[in-house]
Amino acid sequence: MAEQHYDFFASVIKSFDKAAKFTKWEQGLLEQIKACNSIYSMRFPVKMDDGRIEVIEAYRVQHSHHKSPCKGGIRFSDEVNQDEVMALAALMTYKCAIVNVPFGGGKGGIKINPKKYSVYELEKITRRYTSELVKKNFIGPGIDVPAPDYGTGAREMAWIVDTYTSLKPGEIDAAGCVTGKPVTQGGVRGRTEATGLGVFYGLREVCNMVEVMKRLNLPIGVEGKKVVVQGLGNVGYHSAIFFQRAGAKIVALAEYEGSIYSEEGLDVDAVFNHRKSTGSILNFPGAKNFNKNTDALEMECDILIPAALENVINGENAPRVKAKIIGEAANGPLTPEADEIFIKKGTLVVPDMYLNAGGVTVSYFEWLKNLSHVRYGRMEKRFTENLNTHILGQIESLTGKNVEQKERAFIMHGPEEADLVHSGLEETMITATREIMDYWHSNNEIPDMRTAAYVVAINKVGTSYAELGIFP
Ligand code: NAD
Repeated sequence: MAEQHYDFFASVIKSFDKAAKFTKWEQGLLEQIKACNSIYSMRFPVKMDDGRIEVIEAYRVQHSHHKSPCKGGIRFSDEVNQDEVMALAALMTYKCAIVNVPFGGGKGGIKINPKKYSVYELEKITRRYTSELVKKNFIGPGIDVPAPDYGTGAREMAWIVDTYTSLKPGEIDAAGCVTGKPVTQGGVRGRTEATGLGVFYGLREVCNMVEVMKRLNLPIGVEGKKVVVQGLGNVGYHSAIFFQRAGAKIVALAEYEGSIYSEEGLDVDAVFNHRKSTGSILNFPGAKNFNKNTDALEMECDILIPAALENVINGENAPRVKAKIIGEAANGPLTPEADEIFIKKGTLVVPDMYLNAGGVTVSYFEWLKNLSHVRYGRMEKRFTENLNTHILGQIESLTGKNVEQKERAFIMHGPEEADLVHSGLEETMITATREIMDYWHSNNEIPDMRTAAYVVAINKVGTSYAELGIFP
């Protein structure tokens, strides 16, 4: 495990170099794009509930200062080390560039297993970490903005914003020092489902591309497509729900304990509730059980969405994967060997680097909300509803007909915060999908969509550096 983490940054560099060949940037500029700009490795003491003092190992890496602030989650995990944080920070730079989120990449990590600490101990660790970041000017709405990641959530983000605010009294934009906060602490509505919804929007756009569907020998659109999802957590559950609502058939779902299959399609909420009450996805009425969670990956389907762990599709099982499209909802679910096999098989792999960027996109919206100090929709909701009511009245009086009640409610509805956040996310994912596809199709030598995504990212960061000029 440790060895794999040690290689993580090197593997990001390898993918970068593979894509950089398709760009025009001089070597020096490419080196600057690749390098981690600032690395803060820290150790601090925390007194535990039993009176013992423990020295905590933690990191914050700012991979790229080509835009400010830097942005990226903080993870709490036993596996955290500098190499891993550097690699994840670099991926954030490229992810933000692709979805036009104007941030440099960052990432933080605290080397602890949160399950082994009391809530009070976790709070002390999080608050001390935040004050260490403040001391070195490594956090702030215009400097570096963390977010939740593995092992952290809204609770930790609330501790961070509270610590930051207390150390920076009077800083008017302080709430923008971190995203993923509870709504009551300046968070934004629509964040919870953002990554799964982004996965859906990205894949829906792919399914609407006539040429792409023709090449894969699939009909246009999402409706009727057979979908398999691995992992029913935040990302997997929401991806599955949005596909189901759009008329796709969720034929198989996999969780830790196994997989289930139904030719007629599974009801995602019913499966979710079944697992909640029985503790297992297995034995869902009308579905066939499979003991291995990896069985689902090899089932007959049009779209496969791995949304659980990294490296689940590799050189060993990739030849048996039957899906025509793989949407990487998880980070790194395919190994480089699997990539090579899918290129040969003609399977379309829609890459994680942008497909799961819904979280950071909506984090960007949260940050904008914090800087503007007003909830999305507050200024225009009532105005839009009044205007729409007026237009509808005019239409009805001119035509002498009444619009049916359901349509009336839809037309008159003024945007709530979640509506605007979802709409901004939809626009972001559609634009990013088209940009990457267009780039890929414009150059026959680019082997896959992943490399095309890297090229798009490198070009954007490269342009940003080139326009800034390098300080003499
Ligand atoms: P989560 O913990 O909510 O869900 C993961 C789910 O996968 C859990 O239900 C777990 O039981 C299940 N699982 C674990 N091992 C499995 C296996 N072998 N087979 C089937 N299911 C298994 O996590 P999440 O937030 O949904 O994240 C999932 C992936 O998406 C991760 O790779 C994460 O890095 C990535 N991601 C998440 C976000 C986000 O906003 N949450 C954003 C970008 C990327």
